[in-house]
Amino acid sequence: MAFSPEVIAELKSIVGPDRLLTSREDLVAYSYDATWMESPPQAVVLPKSAQEVSLVLKLANRYKIPLAPRGAGSGLSGGSVPQKGGIALSFTLMNRILEIDTENSVAVVEPGVITFALQKEVEKHGLFYPPDPSSLKQSAIGGNVAENAGGARCLKYGVTSDYVRALEVVLPTGEIFQTGGKMVKIATGYNLRQLFTGAEGTLGVITKITLRLLPLPKFRTTALVPFADVETACIAVTKIMSSGLLPASIELMDTFTMRCVEEYRPVGLPLGAGAMLLFALDGNYQQVIEAETEAVAQICRDAGALEVRVGKSAEENEKLWEARRAVSPSLARLRPNKFGEDISVPRSALPQIVREIGDISKRYNLPIPVFGHAGDGNLHPNILCDRSDPEEMERVRGAAAEIFRAAVRLGGTLSGEHGIGLLKKEFMEEALGAEQLAFQIRLREYFDPNGILNPGKLFPTGKSSW
Ligand SMILES: Cc1cc2nc3c(=O)[nH]c(=O)nc-3n(C[C@H](O)[C@H](O)[C@H](O)COP(=O)(O)OP(=O)(O)OC[C@H]3O[C@@H](n4cnc5c(N)ncnc54)[C@H](O)[C@@H]3O)c2cc1C
Repeated sequence: MAFSPEVIAELKSIVGPDRLLTSREDLVAYSYDATWMESPPQAVVLPKSAQEVSLVLKLANRYKIPLAPRGAGSGLSGGSVPQKGGIALSFTLMNRILEIDTENSVAVVEPGVITFALQKEVEKHGLFYPPDPSSLKQSAIGGNVAENAGGARCLKYGVTSDYVRALEVVLPTGEIFQTGGKMVKIATGYNLRQLFTGAEGTLGVITKITLRLLPLPKFRTTALVPFADVETACIAVTKIMSSGLLPASIELMDTFTMRCVEEYRPVGLPLGAGAMLLFALDGNYQQVIEAETEAVAQICRDAGALEVRVGKSAEENEKLWEARRAVSPSLARLRPNKFGEDISVPRSALPQIVREIGDISKRYNLPIPVFGHAGDGNLHPNILCDRSDPEEMERVRGAAAEIFRAAVRLGGTLSGEHGIGLLKKEFMEEALGAEQLAFQIRLREYFDPNGILNPGKLFPTGKSSW
């Protein structure tokens, strides 16, 4: 149902007619993210300032209109899907890098800046913004902060929250405030910037972000190491991580995943192997990096690696990392849909969890390729399926629940980096426990008394959303 003429007139008076979209085509374009979830908003609003966001939120509160903040829509949990209609608040026009402050090693950006664009820009100053979700050429920094995005380099460098120095936030009720600053240390009150980071756009709308930057490492090597099976590869990961070495990345692909990637973007992956690890090591001294790469290679050989291929050129290495980033789209071609899990377990539990995922795949008769950030213990078992088949979807639900429960039993959790959104909210009570869940729900209600921001997401609402 369309908004009333009063609401449309008020929205127009805030952002002007050009930045308010209501045509059917526009509403469809803002109705989905990278999951199978889909639901159109009643209007799309494209703000250009925190003040405009504040006015839109005040209006949404007055009329009790649901509102879904939206970065680039690359989310894998349905977070930006306007499930209850209302307003899609898109940050594509707030996409300026406002400042690169080399003295304080920070960048100040608007939420719509694309992750890769920021990385390239800071590199011109010899600086480094490490968080690198595989979607980095699509995702926006605001979405990264809201999801606390990770990526391959997070093994050595940490996730998005490790880089958030300050945020400008508009509360659901419309107040604008700053939390944090350019300084390194803050022990002044609650650490609200961390609370908003990873809150999936349920506590406030982020309108400006100050990000910590590091010096850009001068040298980087890449090594591709095939193994006979996934378990052996996972055992090698724990051996490396307890050896005193710290690669920037250790990524895992099973043989199913490798085959899909090769069909989609051939780069010569070792298709005869049961699994492969892809390593990156970086630093400022070439000899040190080469010696460390050889040390990693030796541990892999001792752990049963079939061979060790160290990349010979930056171009060759980049192709391998492009192939890694192509995993998700290449799997998406195989079946009409995929349910992407994002479990996170202590690294020592990796061999056990991959064994259990293999068993679950057989028992439920569903293909479940496994890949992910093995160094972090963060895996993405993807259940390939067809949503139009209700019997198959019952099996998907069963398999997804079993994988998640296995992760929890092994000391892990439901999501490492993709967030909960709509896709996994029904498992939240098991993930957090009833008491903590109730506390988190109360906290959200305190921030958002009228329940307008991303309603129906993150916490269970009694019925499943898929
Ligand atoms: C091929 C592919 C690979 C991926 N690889 C990774 C990976 O390696 N690591 C990883 O962590 N993720 C990965 N993702 C998931 C996704 O890209 C990340 O979650 C990313 O952070 C989402 O950014 P976005 O701008 O697209 O956000 P959106 O999808 O638009 O939104 C995500 C959430 O953030 C909220 N939000 C957006 N902007 C704001 C704002 N300004 N204020 C408040 N809330 C806001 C939305 O409401 C929603 O809840 C991948 C996705 C794809 C499609």
